[in-house]
This record gives sequence, C-alpha cells and structure tokens, in this order.
Amino acid sequence: MILPRFDVLVPQTVPEACAMLAKHADEGVRILAGGTDLLVDLRRPIVAQHVPRCDGCPTHPEGKVVSTIECLPSDSDPLMAPGGSLRAALEDPRHASPAYLVSLHKLKELKGIERLADGKLRVGALTTITEIERSPEVRQNWTALADGAADLGSPLVRNRGTLGGNIANARPAADTAVPTIALDGELTLHGTSGTRTVAAKDFPRGPGLSVIKPDEILTSVHFPSPLPHSDSAYYKLANRKALEISTVGVAVWLALEESNGPVKDVRVALGAVGPTPILAESVREVLEGKVPDEKMIKQAAKAAVGDARPIDDHRGAAWYRVQMVELLTARLLTTVLERIRGK
Ligand SMILES: Cc1cc2nc3c(=O)[nH]c(=O)nc-3n(C[C@H](O)[C@H](O)[C@H](O)COP(=O)(O)OP(=O)(O)OC[C@H]3O[C@@H](n4cnc5c(N)ncnc54)[C@H](O)[C@@H]3O)c2cc1C
Repeated sequence: MILPRFDVLVPQTVPEACAMLAKHADEGVRILAGGTDLLVDLRRPIVAQHVPRCDGCPTHPEGKVVSTIECLPSDSDPLMAPGGSLRAALEDPRHASPAYLVSLHKLKELKGIERLADGKLRVGALTTITEIERSPEVRQNWTALADGAADLGSPLVRNRGTLGGNIANARPAADTAVPTIALDGELTLHGTSGTRTVAAKDFPRGPGLSVIKPDEILTSVHFPSPLPHSDSAYYKLANRKALEISTVGVAVWLALEESNGPVKDVRVALGAVGPTPILAESVREVLEGKVPDEKMIKQAAKAAVGDARPIDDHRGAAWYRVQMVELLTARLLTTVLERIRGK
C-alpha cells in the first residue's frame, strides 16, 4: 500500500501523547489506533492525484476536462457529488499528509473492559471491536453495543478496529457509536489542560467532525449500570451482510418500572439518517410513563421518523430510509419489550 511519508511517535503515557499532539499540531499530526479508518484517510491525497479525468460526459458534454467526481450529477450520491463529502475529504487540508502519527498502542490504560464497583461499565478506547463483540458482560447487560460490534465490517476489521476509533471518527453510520448513544455512554477526553467528559450524543458535530480538541485523546467510554427491567438491541440494515456501511442503523434501550409496568425511560438512536448519529428524543415523549402496547409502539416509531434527517445516496433513498426507521424502531421496541417481560 502506498502511503505518504510520516513519522510514528510512540508515547508511553496519556499526558505524553497529548503533549505530542499539541507540539506537532502545526505540522499535521493524527492519532493512530487500529488504523482501519486512518490508513484509508491517509491514502486520500494519493488517490486524488490519480482520479481519472473526463473528456466528455453527460454533465460536461462539451468535453470539459475535470476530475470525474465533478461529472456526477448533482442529485447523485452526496458522498461523491460536487461539494459532497468525498470531494470535501479529498480537498480537506486535515487529510493532507500529516508529518506525524501518534500511536496509542503502548497506552495500557486505554485497553480492556471493566465492570466498576458502582455497576458501570468502562470500556477503554483501544478495546477492539472483537473484544466487545465477544465480551459476555457486554452481551448480557449492554446488548445493543455487542450487536453493533458484531455487525461492524468483517472479522479482520473487527480484530484491528477499536471502539475509540469508531466513535472518534464521527461517521453518521458508525456501528458502535449509535448503540453508545442509545446506552447513554459518556466519553472521557484527556488533553494537555486536563480531563473532561462528554455525553456520546453530544460528541459528533457532522460527518467526520466532533467536539474533540486537537490535543485531546478519547481514553474511555463509561456506560451506566443496567437498570432492573431494562434491555437493549441494535439492528443494522445494509445492502450486504458484511463489509458494508449501514443504510439505516437503529439502537433501542428501554427500561420499565416493573416487568409489565410503564416505561421508566427509553432511548432510541438512529444511524445513517443524518449528518451525525441522532438521539430520537421524540420517542421518549410518546412512551414515558405509559404501559406500552402495539398502538403506542407504532406511534413511537412514527415519532422517531420525525427526528431523522435522511438523504438519498447509493445505499438507499431518503423515502426508503424513513420507512426503515419506522419499521425498525417498532420492531426493536417490540423485541426489547418482549425480552424484558419474558425475563
Ligand atoms: C474494510 C472496512 C470495513 C469497515 N466496515 C465498517 C462497518 O461496517 N461499520 C463501521 O462503523 N465502520 C466500519 N469501518 C470503519 C472502521 O473499521 C471503524 O471505524 C473502526 O472502529 C475504527 O477504529 P480504528 O482503531 O481502526 O481507528 P483508526 O483508523 O486508528 O482511527 C480512526 C480516526 O479516529 C481517530 N482516533 C482513533 N482513536 C482515537 C482516540 N482514542 N482518541 C481520539 N481520536 C482517535 C484517528 O486519528 C482517526 O482520525 C470499516 C473500515 C474498513 C477498512
């Protein structure tokens, strides 16, 4: 694989890593975890140099010589279309070859899954997707996260990719970020001026954009202790079963007051139907305090649609995504409800 030139820095501690990020910010520096997203990003400037050029196409019948990305009609895949995110990524100076990569692999405190004394779950940012997928603790009590991990990429990608990388990447379809929002995950960010926590729902700001500062590292994600009579699930709808980004992803977490009682709390998160993963707040307004039945679940699913902001792209049309948000939200709420009542 041809990559641009860079030096790899290997800090031994988190403060050292943050100091390296701060020191080299002007020269260009990126964090390296599993590298499954980063290496693709680093190749973008090289790919851009080799984008074929058009000498006549439906968009430029006069034979204007331009990058073929510009030849796509403006209503085509927004990833590829003029001004779309692939184009933006190719031209984005942040993707220009960084002089340094700061590798996190020596930072032991970023690894592993741990149940804390207060019942919360701490997952280190460097924990691999495979470790999450295979953790009995996660599968049992934070099921939506295990579902998301099991659906990500392929075994090879899951073995290298990390939870921190999937979340920090801030992609709207990220398969562990969507359940992390439904499960009310809290992200710990370390920087040169200290530590702060950010709710997972407030972290992404747009495709590839987040609230993280240039000298900050995502070190861990904390999930609240599971409530009695609660459960969760995630479903990824995609054009293929593996190695595919989702067309729609829905994660549901539901807690009842008692097994046949009213809804204590509910969180539904939607992936790939907006510029960021979305917490569908309207669902809570429909269900909270009520004993859910089929009619109410249908209403809640319709409410989720109101929070989605889908677009047309090659994975699915906006109208199709809307229908799938409604169908999957209803299906997952029903599944989770049945699981809680059957426990
Ligand atoms: C073939 C293939 C298939 C894929 N399929 C899927 C899929 O189905 N679903 C899906 O969601 N993703 C998919 N991905 C994307 C990718 O595998 C995941 O996003 C993965 O979890 C990224 O983790 P990583 O450790 O490899 O991140 P890296 O590539 O190392 O980093 C990703 C980004 O996050 C930053 N970063 C990494 N760790 C931290 C940290 N701790 N703190 C701050 N910033 C950090 C890096 O600087 C970089 O910008 C796929 C990728 C490939 C190559």
